[in-house]
Amino acid sequence: MTFAEEIPSVRVRAPGKINVYLEVGALQGDGYHELATAFQAVSLYEDVVATAAEGFSMTVSGTVDLDGVPTDERNLALRAAMLLAEETGYEGGVHLDVYKQVPVAGGMGGGSADAAAALLACDALWDTRLTGQELHRLAARLGADVPFALKGGTAVGTGRGDVLNPALARGRFDWVLVTSDEGVSTPKVYGELDAHRERHKVDIGPVVQRPSVDPEVLHALRAGDAAMLAAALRNDLQVATLRLRPDLAAVLEHGEAAGALAGIVSGSGPTLAFLCGSAEHALELLTDLETAGFPALHVHGPVPGARVVG
Ligand code: ATP
Repeated sequence: MTFAEEIPSVRVRAPGKINVYLEVGALQGDGYHELATAFQAVSLYEDVVATAAEGFSMTVSGTVDLDGVPTDERNLALRAAMLLAEETGYEGGVHLDVYKQVPVAGGMGGGSADAAAALLACDALWDTRLTGQELHRLAARLGADVPFALKGGTAVGTGRGDVLNPALARGRFDWVLVTSDEGVSTPKVYGELDAHRERHKVDIGPVVQRPSVDPEVLHALRAGDAAMLAAALRNDLQVATLRLRPDLAAVLEHGEAAGALAGIVSGSGPTLAFLCGSAEHALELLTDLETAGFPALHVHGPVPGARVVG
């Protein structure tokens, strides 16, 4: 055995997500919006390897454009490790190797998945043995989407998206994702939505204070019925993302004309998610989109949340 192999390390895998429903309530006094969302974890993963070390450090690699990903304490994964150490009184450190496959600033919660994976990996490496509830509480402090990356599967999120209730889901949903080279900033998308609602307040009317997930979405998820889910998909951020990225409208139309059951902006975008009726159907759509010059990926959901894989 070499010296390197003796240094303890833990590998955790955490999924990206699609919001199959995202209703955004009125802007609150604290600058945030109340949300009602249904998350589905999909088979596009982030891997975090935590290795025992004295201080806190990290590297980032992966299949996606890594521009704009910090490798200091601004990185959500490193912040997760530091928060866990602070809360448990652990005095050592860690080195994190983050392998990214979820597009950066893509609206699929990649940074949140890294944070969830880092929490779980350090908890195992340091033997700090937090309960699920304690991990959830730390996750919510790191970001609204981090608790869901820990849990995975299908869940309804309220509050800022961090108050989670598991949702029953049967079967498997096939998606084709179209990724973009350049990400969009989530706060900018919310700002654009507020400006849009202000401009159109006469037509839109008052924005709901207490949004809730449409029962049709929950019904479709429970039934494992892709056509029913396609009819119920909703994302209130889509109008704002399309204003910032008008080029995406043509891609949505292309995917739907090519046979997708429905297309939607994923979270704050710019990743687009096309729902398909089967894996075969998804492969056909993938080929069509790639031939048209749009970089596409086939994923499925729901999949489990962050888990130790080695
Ligand atoms: P969300 O849907 O949760 O808003 P997102 O998927 O759109 O997230 P992320 O890729 O999670 O966006 O990250 C957005 C920004 O956060 C990045 O542009 C980067 O500056 C910063 N960031 C901090 N930590 C990370 C990380 N581990 N991976 C990627 N970006 C990170």
